Amino acid sequence: MTLEKSREMFEKAKTLLPGGVSSPVRAIKPYPFYTASADGSKIRDLDGNEYIDYCLAYGPEILGHNHPVIKEAIRAQLDKGWLYGTPSELEVTLAEKIAGYYPSIDMLRFVSTGTEATMSAIRLARGFTGRKKFVKIEGGFHGAHDAVLVKAGSGASTHGEPDSLGIPADFTKYTLQAQFNDLEGMTELVEKNKDDLAAVILEPVQGNVGPILPKPGYLKEVRKLTEENDVLLIFDEVITGFRLAMGGAQEYYGVVPDMTTLGKIVGGGLPVGVFGGRKEIMEKVSPSGPVYQAGTFSGSPCSMAAGIAVLDYFKRENLHAKLNAKGDTFRTALSEIVADEGLDYSVCGIASMFKIFFGAEPSNYQDVLKCDKEGYFAFFHRMLSDGIFLPPSQFETNFLSEAHADEDIEKTLEAYKNNL
Ligand code: PLP
Repeated sequence: MTLEKSREMFEKAKTLLPGGVSSPVRAIKPYPFYTASADGSKIRDLDGNEYIDYCLAYGPEILGHNHPVIKEAIRAQLDKGWLYGTPSELEVTLAEKIAGYYPSIDMLRFVSTGTEATMSAIRLARGFTGRKKFVKIEGGFHGAHDAVLVKAGSGASTHGEPDSLGIPADFTKYTLQAQFNDLEGMTELVEKNKDDLAAVILEPVQGNVGPILPKPGYLKEVRKLTEENDVLLIFDEVITGFRLAMGGAQEYYGVVPDMTTLGKIVGGGLPVGVFGGRKEIMEKVSPSGPVYQAGTFSGSPCSMAAGIAVLDYFKRENLHAKLNAKGDTFRTALSEIVADEGLDYSVCGIASMFKIFFGAEPSNYQDVLKCDKEGYFAFFHRMLSDGIFLPPSQFETNFLSEAHADEDIEKTLEAYKNNL
């Protein structure tokens, strides 16, 4: 297998793009493969190598790449223009569908990324409550804006720079940290700060340090705690939204947050973000209220059309039942391989999310840090050489899509057996 063209492209890219990439997680050492095309479960690089893709653009491509239903929806929209700068029926249609699937969302605002969604949700929570502080979870990643880049997961952990230069300490002094699954710690933090605490924001399944599942009852207890202390609860469902169920993790676990952020899947692979919640909160958003938020590309027609297409397709085909069952079968097979090889690794995940942790099953960020990061990365490269593209970090969730066929799965399991 040669990666000569990718290597050459990386040399050129490094002179033009910091680190040769447009987002840090893509900077796979010693150099990444550069994608030429993708279709179904496969992604192809400039040198003609083909990989079965379990990264899936870090989540959005839940139907696989280049899906005909989404492509047709985008194509049909292109004939009508792709940016208006005015309201369109598309955003009303998609908003109605989202609100239908998420009973916690009476109203919502479209933005272009998950980063914007959480940034705006936190601003709104502060504006609505008139308080400054918020709690996030260690290792929780909510995008790359200033207030949340504190002990963030994803690329921020992979590259060993959990905090970033360029963010004055003043900007993060109201960002408090709790450990995932630690109800006692969360209770202490909320009760101590409640007079100036606007919100708790969390990923219901921690997706950016690999999938870490909430312990039974944890989310319900956090809901109870926030309610009792009059603090808003924001579920960041940028990964879990429309993945665990149509109504996301909040439907799956039966917990109702005050606000929700969505992204990734709900744009059908095109850029999108959403923040929404109860009417009384959302009505504080400009122009109906005093919390300012705006965007040239918000509600972008092609993203809206692709979003409508993916949600309708999912519903029509009852895909969650099939996809989640595929995930269960796959995780069971992986667990058997790990057991057969006598490894002290753990297979984690839920629905179509999975990961082998090179260590014991984690229940929070500190546990994940104990896993063998270098060992995982060497394994990642062995898998890549065998035509399997996993996310290049111990700290990223792997995803299955509708497009992964039985033969893809068989080939992948064989590669796990050979490379673990
Ligand atoms: N929130 C979560 C849970 C995410 O996983 C991500 C991205 O991975 C974001 C927010 C930021 O989304 P985006 O990359 O679209 O800005």
